[in-house]
This record gives sequence, C-alpha cells and structure tokens, in this order.
Amino acid sequence: MNHRHLLPEEIDLLLDGEVGFGVAPLRDHVQECAQCRARLDDAQLVAAALEDLPHFSPSFTLADKVMAQVPVFVPWHVAARDTAVRWLPTSTAGRVAAGGLVAGAGATLTAGAVWLASRGDVVGVATDVAGTHLRTAAAQVLRDGMVTLFGPAVMDTLQHGGLVGLGAIAAGFLVAATASAFGLRAIASAARRRD
Ligand SMILES: [Zn+2]
Repeated sequence: MNHRHLLPEEIDLLLDGEVGFGVAPLRDHVQECAQCRARLDDAQLVAAALEDLPHFSPSFTLADKVMAQVPVFVPWHVAARDTAVRWLPTSTAGRVAAGGLVAGAGATLTAGAVWLASRGDVVGVATDVAGTHLRTAAAQVLRDGMVTLFGPAVMDTLQHGGLVGLGAIAAGFLVAATASAFGLRAIASAARRRD
C-alpha cells in the first residue's frame, strides 16, 4: 500500500478514468484508504454537478470587441509592409511603373549624394557663407555616409574611377532598388494569398 495520501492531480487522474502506468497503485490506495476514497467521491460529485450545468459559450463577436480596445503594438517592418501594400498599384503595369519610379528616385538621390561627396570643393563653395568648419563637417558627413552605405572602397573608387565609378555605383543601386521593389511586390502578393 502507498505510504501517503493522494495528491490533487492524482485524484484528477482517477476522476478522468486514466489508465496509464502508475494509476493502478492509486486505485489500490483508494480501495484501502477511506480518507482518499471520500475525497474521490467528493470530486466525482462536483464533476457530475458541473456536467449538469448549462454550457455557455462566449458570443462569437467577443474576441473582436475585446481586441478593439486593446492597443496592439505593430512592429515597424509590419507597418512599413502594410503601407507599401496600400500604396502599391493593383495592376502589374502600374507596379512596374511604380517600381521604376522608386528605383529612379533612389538612383538620382544616390548619384547626387555620391557626386557631392566626391566634390567636397563644390559643397564648400555652396556653403561658403557658413564658414570653413561647417563646410568641412558637411563634406565629412557626406563621406562618412557614403562609406557607411557602400563600404570604405567607395571613396577609392570615386577618387580613381571618377565618373565611371560613379556610374558603377549608380547602376549597383539601381539593381538593388529594383530588386527591393520586386521583393516588396512578392511580399505583398504573398500576404494577399494568406488573407
Ligand atoms: Zn489516502
């Protein structure tokens, strides 16, 4: 015979009619122990009473009502994707045109920044009124930005390759921009398929 009384979860096992390994000793104990038998009887009474209660289920709109009042945190990449999806034209031709616009604008901006970064003197003349410090700082920020974006090799390329290097970088960006535009489109259509 077991040397201890049954634990609540062991009572539950017997209540549920479990037949696994280890249940037999529990049954044996209940046979021999009046106290545990009484607890099992009580538990059976409660379970039977619960079974007789009317079964309620929440309204199917409950989840929506609750969630309407819960401030949901949307991660930035999900928000960005949703915005992109909203802005994306529905027709294929429209999407290709939009992708071209995005790539073109990005390429123009990049080419402009690259050109400015490689022409510190031009930036200097433009900001002459602001003084030497600001001038140097502006050129430095541009250079740092270029190095961060494209790696240290970009300044070498610019200094030695000149316009050819600039063209190569612009072409590289164009490819990247086009690829990301198509990637966004793939994400959008994948999201639509899930819906
Ligand atoms: Zn007992």
